[in-house]
Formats: sequence, C-alpha cells, structure tokens
Amino acid sequence: MIKRYLTFEKNNGIAPYIWTILCILPFYFIFQSPSTIQIVVGILLTLVFFILYRIAFISKGWPVYLWTLILIGISITASSLFSYVYFAFFLAYFIGNIKDRIAFLTLYFIHLISTSAAINYNIVTHEKLFLQQLPFVIIIWISVILLPFSIHNRKERGQLEEKLEDANKRISELVKAEERQRIARDLHDTLGQKLSLIGLKSDLARRLISKDPEQARMELKDVQQTARTALSEVRKMVSSMRGIRLKDEILRVNQMLDAAQIKFVGEGEFTLTNVSLLTENILSMCLKEAVNNVVKHSGATSCFISIEQSWKETVLTIRDDGLFKGEKEMLIEGHGLIGMKERLEFINGSLELLTKEGTTLIIRVPNDAKLSLKEE
Ligand code: ATP
Ligand code: MG
Repeated sequence: MIKRYLTFEKNNGIAPYIWTILCILPFYFIFQSPSTIQIVVGILLTLVFFILYRIAFISKGWPVYLWTLILIGISITASSLFSYVYFAFFLAYFIGNIKDRIAFLTLYFIHLISTSAAINYNIVTHEKLFLQQLPFVIIIWISVILLPFSIHNRKERGQLEEKLEDANKRISELVKAEERQRIARDLHDTLGQKLSLIGLKSDLARRLISKDPEQARMELKDVQQTARTALSEVRKMVSSMRGIRLKDEILRVNQMLDAAQIKFVGEGEFTLTNVSLLTENILSMCLKEAVNNVVKHSGATSCFISIEQSWKETVLTIRDDGLFKGEKEMLIEGHGLIGMKERLEFINGSLELLTKEGTTLIIRVPNDAKLSLKEE
C-alpha cells in the first residue's frame, strides 16, 4: 500500500495536491455568498460539475460536446455568481485530453472565448472578491490558453511513440520470420541434397559390394567426401548465424593483416554502445569483407581502422595505402562491396567509397534510439 502510494507520488508530483485544493476551493467561495439560496445553488452546481466532469471523461462521440458545453456553462455561471474561475482549469485539462482534433479545436476556442468573456465581465463589474484574486485569475487564463495544447501534443507524441514501437516490433518479427525461412532454405539446399546423395550412394555401394568391390569402394569414398562437405557447410552456416561482436572481429582482422604483412593501425573504442546486436553483426561482416579486400586487392603496407561513436551514429572507417584496382561502378555490380551496401541499407546505414590515395571505406550506421535512452 505504502509502495503504491509512493509510486503514485513519484508519477504525479504535486499535481494531486493541486487538484485536491481546486476541488475544495469552490466551497470557500460559495460560503462567502450572502444568501442561503445562492449557497445551495453553488453546492449543487459544484456537485453537478464534478459528476459531469467524470462522465465526460468516459464518454465518446457527440456526448463529449454536450457534456463539455454544459461544463463550460457551469464554469461561467460559477465565475459570475461566486467569482470562482477555477473550474476553467479543470476544463482546460479535459479539453487537452480530447483526441479528435476538430472536437479539440472547437471546444478549445469556445472555452477560451467564454472564459475570457467571463473574466472581462467580472473585471468590468468590479467584483471585489474577484479583483482580490486577480493574479490567480491571470494564471488560470494563461492555463486556459496553453494547457490544452501542451496536453494534446504530449498525448499525440505518446501515441506516435506507441505506433513506432509497434512498427519496430513488427519489423523484428518479420526479420525473425525471414531468418527462419532462410535457415530452412539453406538446410534444404545444402544438407537435404547432400544427405539424399549420401543415401543414394551408400545404397548403390551396398548393392555393388559383392559384384564390383572396386566400384563400391569408389562410391563409399564419394559418400565420405559428401559427408565432409556437408559437415563443413553446417559449420559455416552455424558460424554465420552466431552473432559476431566487432571486438572479436577486430582480433581476427588483426591476425589476417599480420599474416599478409600489412601493418594494422586501430583507433577508437571497439566495444560498441547504443548499437543493437543486428547492427553490430552487420558492422562486423562489413569489416571482414573490407579487410578481405585490402588483403586481396590493395597491395597496401598499412591498414587504418577507426570507429567513432556520436550520440546519433556510429562511423567505421577502413583505409589502406594501396591502390584501388576496381572501377567506381563496382558498387553497382554483384560483388562484396554491393553486398555490404545492401546489408547496410537494411539498417538505414550507408557506405561511402573513396579511391584517392588508396582505398577508404566509410560506413555509417544510426544508433538505436531506444538503447541510448536506456543507457541514459
Ligand atoms: P568478392 O568480394 O565477392 O570475393 P571482389 O573482392 O572482387 O569479390 P568487391 O569486394 O566488391 O569484389 O570489390 C570490387 C573490386 O574493387 C575488387 O575486385 C577490386 O578490384 C576493387 N577493390 C575493392 N577493395 C579494394 C582495395 N581495398 N584496394 C584495391 N582494390 C579494391
Ligand atoms: Mg571482396
């Protein structure tokens, strides 16, 4: 219970206290009235206001207009009879919570105009009680102007964020489904074919073993070879499915460059933050492909790899001091570079190829906004 109260406090700040005071305050004004009839009318109006206010919050469609107009009527009556303008604050809050834009704007302007008119009327008639609380009246008037918009915008933003989250969830589901399909296809194309070949060949060998032992031996050798290939394909598939961390890839790349006698110069922090596993995987694959190219094509003596992380994106640069052998158009042919570009586009990243004084690849990927928020 205490815990619930504390979380309630934490979520709402001092707002509940202000609302409580605003709920009790009308009675202070009502009891200042000289006649009993006015007091009774005041109490009834206040009770009707709060009951309708509650009903307005749970109704939908045209009744919202009706309740709000009645509430505005009560608010104006209260401010002219008892100089009590604070109902306008409740209304501003309620109007801000109306989702439909046209209803929101219509009621906002009706409320603003009527409240301004009521305030002016009180000022013109020099109502004493009213003039005493003028600073508060001004605050209420400013709230009537600003509060509905601020609440409305916050609500809209919340809805958009929810939609975005839904879309992200759907995308990740689709990615998973696609991945599952790919695995099924790979299994069917590689393992399936190889296993049926093994089945056929071993059956043939069994039948040949007495008739033609030499041929049977050849077939069994084929079986062994096919089994080996299948095993290595399974290994490749499994290792491509496992997530590769950039930090680990850097170690591998370092060894590769070392073996090719190319000097490795690294800069930046290779342990990434604010980046999803998928993005890091793709970055690792790109790094591997880029360094493969450096070793295979560049003839460089040194290779510079840097990683820079800003609040919005991660930039991976791979530069060598060799000579670019391909055409710039290589990016539109079906080679390693185009594969990189496609993978990066999938995660809204980009690939830039500079071929002056060696080859430079600049890879940019946006950071995961949700991960950055979590980190904060
Ligand atoms: P694959 O990557 O499919 O094995 P590939 O390496 O030839 O084939 P890409 O990686 O797309 O294909 O590279 C395209 C071409 O660009 C290469 O053939 C090579 O001529 C040139 N190239 C790429 N990177 C470099 C580099 N670092 N230095 C020099 N030339 C390069
Ligand atoms: Mg390549």
